[in-house]
Amino acid sequence: MLDRCLGTRRVRQIQRAVRHGMVTFMCLFLTVVVLRGTIGAGKFGTPEQDYNEIRERFSSRGRRVEPHRVLEEAQPEPDSNQSNNYATFDISKILVDEGGDEEKRDPNKPYSLGPKISDWDEQRAEWLRKNPNFPNFIGPNKPRVLLVTGSSPKPCENPVGDHYLLKSIKNKIDYCRLHGIEIFYNMALLDAEMAGFWAKLPLIRKLLLSHPEVEFLWWMDSDAMFTDMAFEVPWERYKDHNFVMHGWNEMVYDQKNWIGLNTGSFLLRNTQWALDILDAWAPMGPKGKVRDEAGKVLTRELKDRPVFEADDQSAMVYLLATQRELWGEKVYLESAYYLHGYWGILVDRYEEMIENYHPGLGDHRWPLVTHFVGCKPCGKFGDYPVERCLKQMDRAYNFGDNQILQIYGFTHKSLGSRRVKRVRNETSNPLEVKDELGLLHPAFKAVKTSS
Ligand code: UDP
Ligand code: MN
Repeated sequence: MLDRCLGTRRVRQIQRAVRHGMVTFMCLFLTVVVLRGTIGAGKFGTPEQDYNEIRERFSSRGRRVEPHRVLEEAQPEPDSNQSNNYATFDISKILVDEGGDEEKRDPNKPYSLGPKISDWDEQRAEWLRKNPNFPNFIGPNKPRVLLVTGSSPKPCENPVGDHYLLKSIKNKIDYCRLHGIEIFYNMALLDAEMAGFWAKLPLIRKLLLSHPEVEFLWWMDSDAMFTDMAFEVPWERYKDHNFVMHGWNEMVYDQKNWIGLNTGSFLLRNTQWALDILDAWAPMGPKGKVRDEAGKVLTRELKDRPVFEADDQSAMVYLLATQRELWGEKVYLESAYYLHGYWGILVDRYEEMIENYHPGLGDHRWPLVTHFVGCKPCGKFGDYPVERCLKQMDRAYNFGDNQILQIYGFTHKSLGSRRVKRVRNETSNPLEVKDELGLLHPAFKAVKTSS
């Protein structure tokens, strides 16, 4: 029948092809068996182990491997231990704290950040003498600076909070890379009593003492972003000062206004004086009764302060206003540029700034820092509408990021857009391209060579 349809020659050809096919298949099969027993055993464990692993991975509860398995698994599974779905997984299963084993402090003893040190300046000077490869100045008028920031050890209390923390640290990495500043990001609560905005105090003390090579520590809140990537801090201006905050003398010393200065972004010189002011600053911090009672004092004594527990900023205003003679001389309240800039008065003016000015000014024309005070992007509730906070944080981020992107020939399509567009054509002479702001190889980033 087949002969009649195809002809005898054609049938024989097909039979030969089938025979060849079978031989080829047998060879292939034997090769696979031999390879599984040699390479497999040597490199990835015994063939049996491999087989078991593969079986486990691909057939949960004896199901057959099927090509559409991934789609299938998007459905919630009855046993969530086995689910591949991140959206439905309860993260609290993983992030457990074994609490309760911290020793309780005697509430009658005054709080202390650590053992008393009174000769830090000598200890540090000695260390610097012995370690000439770690100088505290990395250029003329260019101190070695460590920017310190951080956030809670837990994930944010709302789903987008962590995304904004990521944007915020990316923004700080950019500024610090351009300005030759090192970064420390802290997520550990070093002292349980100093939770929340007070967490920076024990951390700062620890870092000053561990890094004698650091001349200035720059604390910056996680909700503050650099909006002027070209502005270099006028270090020379602070040569006789130990503590630089954005603020105004009259508002702090005369009016005792709780917003006379801001502690969301400040510079602290690594000195005995710094350890002393940290000690004087800390006593209102311990959470619970101490912090609550101190909050009442601060609200009573400071101008316009709402009723709430003691915060580090009010405590600093109170300390300076009540002990000016002790600390005032070494504190520089800076208002010539925005070491901290309140977002409420800046974010709606970014377009106007772009129209009229340029980065590098640092002040109201192009603020160095935009700080989202009161937005609490990582918390459940802030003092402002969430939509306004997040929208404006994105604008501040993009405003800063445009100065980074221009180096590489790109820009955000608008301040509200994640998307970018090209602003320069590609060239076959990439090293001849100069970026508009000169941020690719800025002078303030240049390092001394030892020769
Ligand atoms: N912070 C921290 N660990 C915590 C909680 C807060 O390091 O567990 C830091 C974080 O960088 C945050 C800062 O403390 O930005 C101060 O808090 P926040 O910015 O919310 O206060 P605000 O500026 O709104 O007064
Ligand atoms: Mn803040």
